[in-house]
Amino acid sequence: MQTAELDDLLKHHFGYDAFRPLQREIIDAVLDGRDALALLPTGGGKSLCYQLPALASGGVTLVISPLIALMKDQVDGLRANGIAATFLNSSLDASEAAACYDGLDRGAYRLLYVSPERAVMPSFLARLPRWNVERIAVDEAHCVSEWGHDFRPEYRRLHDVRERLPGTPVLALTATATARVREDIERFLHLDEPERFVGSFNRPNLTYRVFEKRDALKQLLAWCTARPNESGIIYAQSRNSAEELARKLDAAGVPARPYHAGLTAAQRSRNQELFIRDEIRVICATVAFGMGINKPNVRYVVHYDVPKSIEGYYQETGRAGRDGLPSECVLFFNGGDAAKQRHFIRQIEDEHERDQADRLLRKMLDFAAEPHCRRASLLRYFGEEPEHANCGSCDNCLNPPEEVDVTIPARKLLSCVYRIRAHSGFGSGAHHLVDVLLGNATEKVQSWGHDRLSTFGIGSELSKDEWLALISDLLRRGYLEEGEHRTLQLANDGVEALRSERSIVYARPRFLKKGAKRARGARESAPVSYEDALFERLRALRKRLADEQGVPPYVIFSDATLRELSGRKPKTLQDFLATSGVGDVKLERYGETFLAEIAAYDAAE
Ligand code: ADP
Ligand code: ZN
Repeated sequence: MQTAELDDLLKHHFGYDAFRPLQREIIDAVLDGRDALALLPTGGGKSLCYQLPALASGGVTLVISPLIALMKDQVDGLRANGIAATFLNSSLDASEAAACYDGLDRGAYRLLYVSPERAVMPSFLARLPRWNVERIAVDEAHCVSEWGHDFRPEYRRLHDVRERLPGTPVLALTATATARVREDIERFLHLDEPERFVGSFNRPNLTYRVFEKRDALKQLLAWCTARPNESGIIYAQSRNSAEELARKLDAAGVPARPYHAGLTAAQRSRNQELFIRDEIRVICATVAFGMGINKPNVRYVVHYDVPKSIEGYYQETGRAGRDGLPSECVLFFNGGDAAKQRHFIRQIEDEHERDQADRLLRKMLDFAAEPHCRRASLLRYFGEEPEHANCGSCDNCLNPPEEVDVTIPARKLLSCVYRIRAHSGFGSGAHHLVDVLLGNATEKVQSWGHDRLSTFGIGSELSKDEWLALISDLLRRGYLEEGEHRTLQLANDGVEALRSERSIVYARPRFLKKGAKRARGARESAPVSYEDALFERLRALRKRLADEQGVPPYVIFSDATLRELSGRKPKTLQDFLATSGVGDVKLERYGETFLAEIAAYDAAE
């Protein structure tokens, strides 16, 4: 197919002016009838790689999709663009399913979405050959692999589908990049000399930041209230804390709901639905929340607790900014959390499992304390060489931390920990330790006799905050450990550091930087989004239309489209059509309504 023809299809049906990286190449391979494997990051635009070919040729494109909720959204989205699509899964009753089969027999659809369970049912397989299936797209193809994060045994049987349709090309799509998963996909789906497309895993519209976690709830509230109209996901470690955060945010005027495996399926899907439909702003979730959320306008992802691996962190943060607009990823972190995670891992009984968990956690903790570009560090972790050493949009690039030699204060600190334990037979918490170092003769210090220790008052060179930050760093790096009741004790590396001459360097946390008066200043938490009254009006209009039609707002227009409209303020239908995300059908359905809203806004200004 000619380049210009593909461009036309892209604009007419989807309203887009340009392909995203690799989309065109993948589409070319698909239209060529080749098997292909497409690895693109979340938000890379994988769906278009089979949706556009479905319009460029005669038959039906069969799409295997693992999530029922997602299927309906995808089909709604296609229908909103005037594309004949349907789905078959267990959510349909008998008459709905019969109507769908009927349409398929008549050749009424260009795309058919099915669940993997349905795809391998004998009754389905028997009918399949009648429908002129042109190609098969396997979405979330990593589900075929046990090495991935969402193994689905039915995926292993999908080659049955292909056997019913000999010679039909298969396009496998995933955002999970590891080599083992890739091999499994090719093997289990019986891909035949597939063309492989691997996109960059860089997400240029995401910023990455780590905040020293101090008064976490307060920090979170400040963060969310500074972004009153934006959608965000808060990931927490436990069900309890997801519940509690949702309650507190909601009480503070940030509409929020929890999502975790302890809720019933009905509660979960209700909360998810509220989120997708922009009825609530924030979802407070455990890692149970994720796959199947293709809400494109998630503006921020906050990790309230440190994730267990970089893989998890990348996946979870990846749910921000699918629409390509600037979005923020924030990790709340301190050394105490690191120690807590290590402690959990030590409880794992199986040795192999424990080692594995430990290895993954260490990488994550290194990322949290990384003094250089976080984006570069993420990309390298996934085996990609970053284009620039300095990305200009992570905390370390924007505001590089100062590296300081802390060998002497660290040794004072470690020996003070040692002396306290030697003297009293029990350890102390961080605040007490700092009191001893600073020579504060508090009641506790005196009653335990810690004012008589040789390390009493030897640490006047640092402030209390600086000592606490150093403790946090030494915990994270495994020089210190937390015992019962969060008391401090030396870890093996700490004992070793006291004996050896090894120097200890650390990146001074940003919040301690000299001259920065108020810790965690406004700059660090200023939202990237911009106030825009017209944008908010268009968003309200979109919400009304979406509710009338019973679809999520993003099915009508994406935030990116609304941003462009509120910036350009088109006055004619032709102007309107020039907006990214406006194709022929949406122009006809919504053009007048949105133009009228823009004109009314202009008149009122
Ligand atoms: P993925 O499945 O890879 O995570 P999607 O297929 O859901 O990504 O696409 C993410 C978003 O990007 C969707 O809102 C989609 O409409 C939009 N999109 C896809 N291709 C383009 C394009 N060429 N130009 C602009 N937006 C696009
Ligand atoms: Zn950077």
